Order: sequence, then C-alpha cells, then structure tokens
Amino acid sequence: MISLISPIIPDYDEYCQQIKEIFDDKVFSNGGKKVTELESILTQYFESNVSAFCNGTIALMSAITCLGLSGEVIVPVFTFPASFQAISLCGCTPVFCDINDYDLTIDVNRIEELITNKTCAIMGVHVYGNVCHDYAIEKIAHKHNLKVIYDAAHCFDVPDCANLGDVSMFSFHATKLFHTAEGGCLTTNNLELDKKIKIFRSFGIAGEDLYELVGLNGKMSELNAAMGILNFQLFQKEIQKRKKNRKIYENLLYIISKVAVVPSTYGSTSYFVIRVENGKRNDVYNSLKNQGIITRKYFYPLLTNNGLYETKSDLRVSNRVSEEVLALPIHGNLTENDIELVCKIIKEVVFNG
Ligand SMILES: *Cc1c(COP(=O)(O)O)cnc(C)c1O
Repeated sequence: MISLISPIIPDYDEYCQQIKEIFDDKVFSNGGKKVTELESILTQYFESNVSAFCNGTIALMSAITCLGLSGEVIVPVFTFPASFQAISLCGCTPVFCDINDYDLTIDVNRIEELITNKTCAIMGVHVYGNVCHDYAIEKIAHKHNLKVIYDAAHCFDVPDCANLGDVSMFSFHATKLFHTAEGGCLTTNNLELDKKIKIFRSFGIAGEDLYELVGLNGKMSELNAAMGILNFQLFQKEIQKRKKNRKIYENLLYIISKVAVVPSTYGSTSYFVIRVENGKRNDVYNSLKNQGIITRKYFYPLLTNNGLYETKSDLRVSNRVSEEVLALPIHGNLTENDIELVCKIIKEVVFNG
C-alpha cells in the first residue's frame, strides 16, 4: 500500500512537552503563547503580516468579508472547490475563468472578457504551488479597480508569494506540505486590513467592551499552533526528500510519450501531478488503485459539470485538463522502489491497457 499523503509528524514526546506547557498555562485559545509564537515564526518566514486561522476556508471567507466584497469575483473552477465555495458563502458570485494550458493557473488573457460592472475582485489560485501570473493580474485589477485575493493553499514552500495582491490564504490542513492538523493563515502587506482581519476572526472584538464589526470565530487553537511550531522545524527536510522524489519521477516518466508532468514553475514540492492523454487517466488511476497505490484526480469533477454551479464561460482548457490530471504520491516516506513501481504501472496502462 502506497498512500498519496504522508503528513510530517513531530516527535511525540516533543509534542507532549508543548501540550504540557499549554496545560500549565491553562490557556487553550484566544491567541495564547503558542499561536503568538507560531504567528511570529510565520511573520518572519513570509515577511508579511500573518493572522493564524482555524482553517484555510474560514480564512478565505474572512479575507473576502474584510475586503468588503460584493458582486462578482473572477476565479478558476480548476481548483479545490473551497476557493469558490468561499466566494458563494460570502454572498458573492463566482464567475469562472479558464486556465492556461501550461502551468494551469488562471488564464490572464481570459480575465478581462469576464469583467462586468458587478465585478469586484479576482481570486487567483496558485495551483500545485505554481504562482499565478501576478504581474498581469495586478495590471488588470488596477485598470478596473478590482481587489486581488490569492488562494495560496498549495504555496507554503514559495513564501515570496505571501505579499502578492491584497491578501493571500495559506492552508495548514494535515494533507498539506506544512500543517497544524487543521489550520491556515492570511497574509497581507496592508496594515489596516491586517488589523481588521484580526478583529474579524475574533467576533469583531477590538478590545474589552468594544465590538467594532460583525465577525466570526476563526481563531486557531493553542493545540494546533503547537503542532505548527514543531512542524516548522521539519518541513525543509521534507522538501529536500520531495525534490529528490520529483527528479526520480521525471527521469522515469519523460520517456512515456502519452504522459506529461505538470511543471512546477516556482519549484514547489507540494504536489506531483501528471497529465495522461487519450482518455487513459481513469485507467491509470484504477490500475494503481488495484495495486494498492492511492492517487487523486485533483481536480475532478469540476463543479460546473455536476450541477452545483452554472457558468456561461468557455472553460475548455479546465474541462480537458480535469480529465487528464492525476496527483501521484510525492511525500518524503516514499522509497525509490515505490516510485519505480508507480511508473512501471503507468507505463503498462498507457502502452497496453
Ligand atoms: C486545501 C485547500 C483549501 C482549503 O483549505 P482548508 O484549510 O482545508 O480549509 C482551499 N483551497 C485550496 C486550493 C486547497 O487545496
């Protein structure tokens, strides 16, 4: 059995020590020592203003709300649905934009045709850690007076992207490269927005007896932050292992003509994704599964094709890519033999199956 995900895990005794400190303090949430420490680690890491959250989705909804968005938000449908579900749940309308066929981020040449007098923002997704074409997005946003949000859930190992746009969201879910079991954060270089976000995530409380706005509970707990503090010491080593794994895959796969590796344009190791041509993606998925290797059709199905969302946009690249992509195991616990087996099965299916 080869799993798709193998989360980084801190030393059990070290985690117990962290928990003991929390027990001694008797502070489990509301920005205690652990969240404060994790935020300061991340502030340095991202060189941005950081607000820790209970998860990435609530963080994204908080970003949308704190920017005061209403109306239409241009967003790709080729993403984890949380990106545009957050938009809907905040009372805005996602307007779907196609992706480019190379790095699979939002196609910046297709954004302007979707802008109407209701458009308020563009949400770019740094899919698989591939940073969006931020310069072009910035230019369009400036021209049309739009806000820019980035879903950077996949981008923990590209910290330079934290200050792009008005605000960025990182997810610290257990399936992500760096995690706090559940968690996430927002980063922004706008001090005023940062202040608002921190008040918003705590019921709108700005101080004792002072409710400044209508907020929610988006706070990260001390237990989650403790996990993050320890995992922060581990993720660089995990990245090195994943880089090695990526190379092994690339060397074995490049000879298979019907299989393309989705490029990692900023060197992120968050995911390793292939595109299988000729309608054989599901065959590859099933053969691997039958032999105990778990992969994921990330992202399939698209919610514009299953009745949950309507669209008038031409999403031909998103639709084709969604039928081709398969995320393969890349985690640091893989052996070279594991990767050879995965590639051998892929090759058999593509050439024979
Ligand atoms: C994981 C993920 C999210 C949601 O983050 P959670 O922390 O699980 O709420 C949002 N967008 C993308 C692209 C993701 O991969």
